[in-house]
Amino acid sequence: MKIDLHCHSHYSDGHLSPAELLERAHTMQVDVLALTDHDTINGVQELIDLQESQRRKMSIVAGVEISTSWHGFDIHVIGLGVDHTDPLFVERLQQQCERRNQRAQRIDEKLQKAGVSGTLNEALALAGKGQITRAHFARALIKKQVVSDMDGAFKRYLGKGKRAHVSPVWISIEEAINWIHDAGGKAVLAHPGHYDMTPKWLRRLVAQFAQAGGDGIESNHPHLAPVKRNLIEEIAVQHQLLASSGSDFHFPSRWTELGKNLKISDKLTPIWHDWNIDPHTQRVGNGPN
Ligand code: AMP
Ligand code: MN
Ligand code: MN
Ligand code: MN
Repeated sequence: MKIDLHCHSHYSDGHLSPAELLERAHTMQVDVLALTDHDTINGVQELIDLQESQRRKMSIVAGVEISTSWHGFDIHVIGLGVDHTDPLFVERLQQQCERRNQRAQRIDEKLQKAGVSGTLNEALALAGKGQITRAHFARALIKKQVVSDMDGAFKRYLGKGKRAHVSPVWISIEEAINWIHDAGGKAVLAHPGHYDMTPKWLRRLVAQFAQAGGDGIESNHPHLAPVKRNLIEEIAVQHQLLASSGSDFHFPSRWTELGKNLKISDKLTPIWHDWNIDPHTQRVGNGPN
Protein backbone atom coordinates (compact mmCIF):
# COMPACT_ATOMS: atom_id res chain seq x y z
CA MET A 1 0.00 0.00 0.00
CA LYS A 2 1.34 3.43 -0.95
CA ILE A 3 0.88 5.93 1.85
CA ASP A 4 2.17 9.43 1.07
CA LEU A 5 1.73 11.78 4.01
CA HIS A 6 3.38 14.98 2.77
CA CYS A 7 2.63 17.02 -0.34
CA HIS A 8 1.69 20.51 -1.48
CA SER A 9 -0.92 22.06 -3.76
CA HIS A 10 -1.24 25.57 -5.16
CA TYR A 11 -2.88 26.57 -1.86
CA SER A 12 0.75 27.02 -0.78
CA ASP A 13 3.88 26.58 -2.90
CA GLY A 14 2.85 23.48 -4.85
CA HIS A 15 2.27 24.07 -8.56
CA LEU A 16 -0.72 21.75 -9.00
CA SER A 17 -4.36 22.34 -8.12
CA PRO A 18 -6.03 19.76 -5.87
CA ALA A 19 -7.64 18.28 -9.01
CA GLU A 20 -4.28 17.92 -10.79
CA LEU A 21 -2.67 16.57 -7.63
CA LEU A 22 -5.40 13.97 -7.25
CA GLU A 23 -5.08 12.85 -10.84
CA ARG A 24 -1.35 12.46 -10.45
CA ALA A 25 -1.76 10.57 -7.16
CA HIS A 26 -4.13 8.16 -8.93
CA THR A 27 -1.63 7.69 -11.74
CA MET A 28 1.09 6.95 -9.20
CA GLN A 29 -1.28 4.49 -7.50
CA VAL A 30 -1.21 6.22 -4.14
CA ASP A 31 -3.69 4.67 -1.70
CA VAL A 32 -3.55 7.21 1.12
CA LEU A 33 -2.62 10.83 0.54
CA ALA A 34 -2.23 13.64 3.06
CA LEU A 35 -2.34 17.17 1.72
CA THR A 36 0.04 19.21 3.90
CA ASP A 37 0.20 22.76 2.57
CA HIS A 38 2.32 25.33 4.39
CA ASP A 39 0.26 26.83 7.22
CA THR A 40 -3.10 26.30 5.53
CA ILE A 41 -5.81 23.66 5.25
CA ASN A 42 -7.68 25.61 2.56
CA GLY A 43 -7.18 22.93 -0.12
CA VAL A 44 -8.34 19.98 1.97
CA GLN A 45 -12.12 20.12 1.45
CA GLU A 46 -11.70 20.62 -2.30
CA LEU A 47 -9.47 17.53 -2.45
CA ILE A 48 -11.92 15.44 -0.40
CA ASP A 49 -14.87 16.52 -2.57
CA LEU A 50 -12.96 15.71 -5.75
CA GLN A 51 -11.87 12.32 -4.44
CA GLU A 52 -15.45 11.43 -3.51
CA SER A 53 -16.48 11.95 -7.11
CA GLN A 54 -13.84 9.45 -8.38
CA ARG A 55 -14.22 5.75 -9.02
CA ARG A 56 -10.78 4.64 -7.89
CA LYS A 57 -10.53 4.62 -4.13
CA MET A 58 -8.03 6.73 -2.29
CA SER A 59 -8.04 8.01 1.27
CA ILE A 60 -7.45 11.67 1.84
CA VAL A 61 -5.91 12.64 5.17
CA ALA A 62 -6.46 16.26 6.18
CA GLY A 63 -3.02 17.68 6.88
CA VAL A 64 -0.95 20.81 7.24
CA GLU A 65 2.74 21.75 7.49
CA ILE A 66 3.14 24.37 10.20
CA SER A 67 6.17 26.67 10.22
CA THR A 68 7.81 27.10 13.62
CA SER A 69 10.89 28.92 14.89
CA TRP A 70 13.45 27.18 17.07
CA HIS A 71 16.81 28.78 17.91
CA GLY A 72 16.83 30.66 14.62
CA PHE A 73 15.89 27.62 12.52
CA ASP A 74 12.68 27.21 10.51
CA ILE A 75 11.36 23.89 11.78
CA HIS A 76 8.34 22.35 10.06
CA VAL A 77 5.73 20.39 12.00
CA ILE A 78 3.22 18.29 10.06
CA GLY A 79 -0.30 17.83 11.39
CA LEU A 80 -2.07 14.66 10.22
CA GLY A 81 -5.74 13.89 10.63
CA VAL A 82 -6.62 17.38 11.78
CA ASP A 83 -10.21 18.61 11.75
CA HIS A 84 -9.93 21.11 8.90
CA THR A 85 -13.35 22.53 9.79
CA ASP A 86 -12.41 23.37 13.39
CA PRO A 87 -12.97 27.17 13.66
CA LEU A 88 -10.24 27.65 16.29
CA PHE A 89 -7.71 25.82 14.12
CA VAL A 90 -8.72 27.85 11.07
CA GLU A 91 -8.36 31.07 13.07
CA ARG A 92 -4.97 30.03 14.43
CA LEU A 93 -3.67 29.24 10.95
CA GLN A 94 -4.92 32.65 9.83
CA GLN A 95 -2.37 34.16 12.27
CA GLN A 96 0.39 32.29 10.44
CA CYS A 97 -0.98 33.60 7.15
CA GLU A 98 -0.73 37.16 8.49
CA ARG A 99 2.84 36.48 9.58
CA ARG A 100 3.54 35.27 6.04
CA ASN A 101 2.06 38.46 4.54
CA GLN A 102 4.09 40.68 6.87
CA ARG A 103 7.26 38.72 6.19
CA ALA A 104 6.63 39.03 2.44
CA GLN A 105 6.62 42.84 2.83
CA ARG A 106 9.93 42.70 4.67
CA ILE A 107 11.48 40.37 2.08
CA ASP A 108 10.37 42.80 -0.63
CA GLU A 109 11.94 45.72 1.24
CA LYS A 110 15.22 43.85 1.55
CA LEU A 111 15.14 42.91 -2.13
CA GLN A 112 14.56 46.56 -3.02
CA LYS A 113 17.60 47.52 -0.95
CA ALA A 114 19.55 44.88 -2.87
CA GLY A 115 18.44 46.60 -6.10
CA VAL A 116 15.58 44.30 -7.13
CA SER A 117 12.19 45.97 -7.22
CA GLY A 118 8.64 44.82 -7.91
CA THR A 119 9.14 41.29 -6.60
CA LEU A 120 6.24 41.33 -4.15
CA ASN A 121 3.62 41.92 -6.84
CA GLU A 122 5.08 39.20 -8.99
CA ALA A 123 5.25 36.77 -6.04
CA LEU A 124 1.66 37.60 -5.04
CA ALA A 125 0.49 36.97 -8.58
CA LEU A 126 2.25 33.59 -8.59
CA ALA A 127 0.77 32.69 -5.20
CA GLY A 128 -2.75 33.51 -6.44
CA LYS A 129 -5.23 32.41 -3.80
CA GLY A 130 -2.53 30.41 -2.02
CA GLN A 131 -0.31 31.21 0.90
CA ILE A 132 2.71 33.35 -0.03
CA THR A 133 6.06 31.59 0.47
CA ARG A 134 9.71 32.21 -0.30
CA ALA A 135 9.31 29.75 -3.17
CA HIS A 136 7.06 32.35 -4.87
CA PHE A 137 9.75 35.01 -4.40
CA ALA A 138 12.28 32.59 -5.89
CA ARG A 139 10.04 32.05 -8.92
CA ALA A 140 9.54 35.82 -9.23
CA LEU A 141 13.32 36.33 -9.21
CA ILE A 142 13.69 33.72 -11.96
CA LYS A 143 10.94 35.39 -13.99
CA LYS A 144 12.72 38.70 -13.66
CA GLN A 145 15.94 36.96 -14.76
CA VAL A 146 17.72 38.06 -11.59
CA VAL A 147 18.69 34.43 -10.95
CA SER A 148 18.58 31.38 -13.20
CA ASP A 149 17.07 28.82 -10.84
CA MET A 150 15.41 28.25 -7.45
CA ASP A 151 18.64 27.19 -5.81
CA GLY A 152 20.32 30.41 -7.00
CA ALA A 153 17.47 32.47 -5.55
CA PHE A 154 17.92 30.88 -2.11
CA LYS A 155 21.73 30.94 -2.26
CA ARG A 156 21.91 34.60 -3.28
CA TYR A 157 18.87 36.22 -1.69
CA LEU A 158 16.35 34.18 0.26
CA GLY A 159 18.34 31.62 2.26
CA LYS A 160 19.50 32.01 5.85
CA GLY A 161 22.04 34.83 6.17
CA LYS A 162 21.49 36.08 2.60
CA ARG A 163 20.58 39.60 1.53
CA ALA A 164 16.79 39.25 1.53
CA HIS A 165 16.51 36.78 4.38
CA VAL A 166 14.10 37.61 7.17
CA SER A 167 14.70 35.82 10.47
CA PRO A 168 12.04 33.24 11.37
CA VAL A 169 8.87 34.83 12.67
CA TRP A 170 6.80 31.74 13.39
CA ILE A 171 5.16 30.19 16.44
CA SER A 172 7.08 27.79 18.72
CA ILE A 173 7.23 24.02 18.25
CA GLU A 174 5.17 23.57 21.42
CA GLU A 175 2.40 25.84 20.10
CA ALA A 176 2.27 24.01 16.77
CA ILE A 177 1.97 20.65 18.53
CA ASN A 178 -0.80 22.03 20.75
CA TRP A 179 -2.68 23.50 17.79
CA ILE A 180 -2.51 20.15 15.99
CA HIS A 181 -3.58 18.17 19.06
CA ASP A 182 -6.43 20.61 19.77
CA ALA A 183 -7.62 20.01 16.20
CA GLY A 184 -7.55 16.24 16.81
CA GLY A 185 -4.43 15.49 14.76
CA LYS A 186 -1.02 13.88 15.20
CA ALA A 187 2.12 16.04 15.15
CA VAL A 188 5.07 14.88 13.06
CA LEU A 189 8.51 16.50 12.80
CA ALA A 190 9.02 17.14 9.09
CA HIS A 191 12.18 16.28 7.11
CA PRO A 192 14.63 16.21 10.05
CA GLY A 193 17.52 15.64 7.65
CA HIS A 194 16.93 18.99 5.90
CA TYR A 195 17.83 21.24 8.77
CA ASP A 196 21.31 22.61 8.50
CA MET A 197 22.41 21.54 11.98
CA THR A 198 24.92 19.22 13.65
CA PRO A 199 23.85 15.79 14.99
CA LYS A 200 24.08 17.26 18.50
CA TRP A 201 21.52 19.97 17.64
CA LEU A 202 19.34 17.47 15.82
CA ARG A 203 19.26 15.30 18.95
CA ARG A 204 18.30 18.37 20.95
CA LEU A 205 15.55 19.27 18.49
CA VAL A 206 14.01 15.80 18.48
CA ALA A 207 14.26 15.54 22.28
CA GLN A 208 12.40 18.83 22.67
CA PHE A 209 9.81 17.84 20.06
CA ALA A 210 9.15 14.54 21.88
CA GLN A 211 9.11 16.28 25.27
CA ALA A 212 6.48 18.71 23.97
CA GLY A 213 4.21 15.81 23.05
CA GLY A 214 5.14 15.32 19.38
CA ASP A 215 3.86 12.00 18.04
CA GLY A 216 6.04 11.14 15.09
CA ILE A 217 8.96 11.98 12.83
CA GLU A 218 9.56 11.68 9.10
CA SER A 219 12.14 8.90 9.19
CA ASN A 220 12.53 8.96 5.43
CA HIS A 221 12.24 11.86 3.03
CA PRO A 222 13.75 13.00 -0.26
CA HIS A 223 17.46 13.87 -0.36
CA LEU A 224 18.26 11.98 2.85
CA ALA A 225 21.74 10.46 2.99
CA PRO A 226 21.91 6.92 4.50
CA VAL A 227 24.17 8.05 7.37
CA LYS A 228 21.67 10.70 8.38
CA ARG A 229 18.76 8.32 7.96
CA ASN A 230 20.41 5.88 10.37
CA LEU A 231 20.91 8.68 12.87
CA ILE A 232 17.28 9.78 12.59
CA GLU A 233 16.03 6.21 13.01
CA GLU A 234 18.18 5.81 16.10
CA ILE A 235 16.86 9.05 17.63
CA ALA A 236 13.26 8.11 16.72
CA VAL A 237 13.63 4.78 18.56
CA GLN A 238 15.20 6.54 21.54
CA HIS A 239 12.23 8.88 21.90
CA GLN A 240 9.60 6.31 20.90
CA LEU A 241 8.38 8.44 18.05
CA LEU A 242 6.18 6.92 15.36
CA ALA A 243 7.51 6.99 11.81
CA SER A 244 5.94 8.93 8.99
CA SER A 245 7.03 9.53 5.45
CA GLY A 246 5.99 11.43 2.41
CA SER A 247 7.26 12.68 -0.90
CA ASP A 248 7.08 16.43 -0.07
CA PHE A 249 5.90 16.72 -3.66
CA HIS A 250 5.59 20.31 -4.92
CA PHE A 251 5.62 19.86 -8.71
CA PRO A 252 6.70 17.22 -11.21
CA SER A 253 10.49 17.06 -11.44
CA ARG A 254 13.29 14.54 -11.81
CA TRP A 255 13.72 14.39 -8.05
CA THR A 256 10.28 14.26 -6.52
CA GLU A 257 7.16 12.32 -7.27
CA LEU A 258 4.01 11.45 -5.37
CA GLY A 259 4.25 8.03 -3.77
CA LYS A 260 8.07 7.99 -3.76
CA ASN A 261 10.57 7.82 -0.87
CA LEU A 262 8.08 6.19 1.42
CA LYS A 263 9.98 3.26 2.86
CA ILE A 264 10.05 3.04 6.63
CA SER A 265 12.55 0.96 8.62
CA ASP A 266 11.29 -2.22 10.33
CA LYS A 267 12.75 -0.85 13.56
CA LEU A 268 10.02 1.81 13.67
CA THR A 269 6.27 1.77 14.10
CA PRO A 270 4.43 3.60 11.30
CA ILE A 271 2.17 6.45 12.34
CA TRP A 272 -0.71 4.70 10.53
CA HIS A 273 -0.36 1.50 12.60
CA ASP A 274 -3.72 2.10 14.28
CA TRP A 275 -5.52 3.75 11.33
CA ASN A 276 -8.06 1.26 10.22
CA ILE A 277 -7.44 1.43 6.46
CA ASP A 278 -9.96 -0.72 4.63
CA PRO A 279 -8.04 -2.40 1.77
CA HIS A 280 -11.17 -2.54 -0.39
CA THR A 281 -12.54 0.94 0.00
CA GLN A 282 -9.31 2.54 1.22
CA ARG A 283 -11.35 4.43 3.75
CA VAL A 284 -9.47 5.41 6.89
CA GLY A 285 -11.51 4.38 9.93
CA ASN A 286 -10.24 5.48 13.33
CA GLY A 287 -7.16 7.65 13.62
CA PRO A 288 -6.97 10.46 11.09
CA ASN A 289 -10.24 11.23 9.40
P1 AMP B 1 8.80 29.55 3.36
O1 AMP B 1 7.98 28.52 4.08
O2 AMP B 1 7.97 30.68 2.85
O3 AMP B 1 9.99 30.00 4.13
O4 AMP B 1 9.31 28.88 2.03
C1 AMP B 1 10.10 27.76 2.11
C2 AMP B 1 9.83 26.89 0.88
O5 AMP B 1 10.74 27.22 -0.13
C3 AMP B 1 10.09 25.43 1.20
O6 AMP B 1 8.90 24.80 1.62
C4 AMP B 1 10.56 24.87 -0.10
O7 AMP B 1 9.45 24.44 -0.86
C5 AMP B 1 11.19 26.04 -0.79
N1 AMP B 1 12.67 26.02 -0.70
C6 AMP B 1 13.43 26.20 0.37
N2 AMP B 1 14.76 26.15 0.06
C7 AMP B 1 14.81 25.89 -1.26
C8 AMP B 1 15.87 25.73 -2.21
N3 AMP B 1 17.16 25.82 -1.85
N4 AMP B 1 15.53 25.51 -3.49
C9 AMP B 1 14.26 25.43 -3.87
N5 AMP B 1 13.21 25.59 -3.04
C10 AMP B 1 13.47 25.81 -1.75
MN1 MN C 1 7.42 24.22 0.16
MN1 MN D 1 9.00 21.67 4.85
MN1 MN E 1 6.64 20.30 2.60
